This record gives sequence, C-alpha cells and structure tokens, in this order.
Amino acid sequence: MSDRSRYGYAHRKVRKQWEPIVADGGVDCARCNQPIEPGTPWDLGHVPGSATEYAGPMHQGCNRNTMAEQRALVAAVSEYRWFV
Ligand SMILES: [Zn+2]
Repeated sequence: MSDRSRYGYAHRKVRKQWEPIVADGGVDCARCNQPIEPGTPWDLGHVPGSATEYAGPMHQGCNRNTMAEQRALVAAVSEYRWFV
C-alpha cells in the first residue's frame, strides 16, 4: 500500500526540485535533522497541519511518523467536533 498516489502535481514538482540536491548529499532531514544519505529512500514532508506547505525532504521513516501523528490529531479534532 502506498499513499503516494494521493499527492498531486505540485508535490511531484517540488520533489523533483529536491531530488538532485538530496542526491548530492548534505541535506538534513526536516524532521530529525540527521543527514539524508544519498540513495536512501526519502519523502517530501509537509509542514504539520498543512497540505500545501512543504517542510522539505525527510527520511521515509520520519515522514511516516509525522503522518501517523497528523492522523491522530485529525482524529482527535473530528472526534471533538461531534461534541460541539
Ligand atoms: Zn529523519
């Protein structure tokens, strides 16, 4: 299962701009601030809570954690709205 398919053109375009920079090395993960080794899987991470702002490249594992946190947040918010 991949959730990459739900990303649109803008996401792919920004990711393309990062690709050569990550491939050269020297890019730190936007989430854990550790270097992303060229050739390792990475994701273009979003600013938490935003669907349109990009935080920058992240280790794939770090991005998965962020998305899990965001899902938990969204679940908490929609649960809260039931009681308003
Ligand atoms: Zn990381």
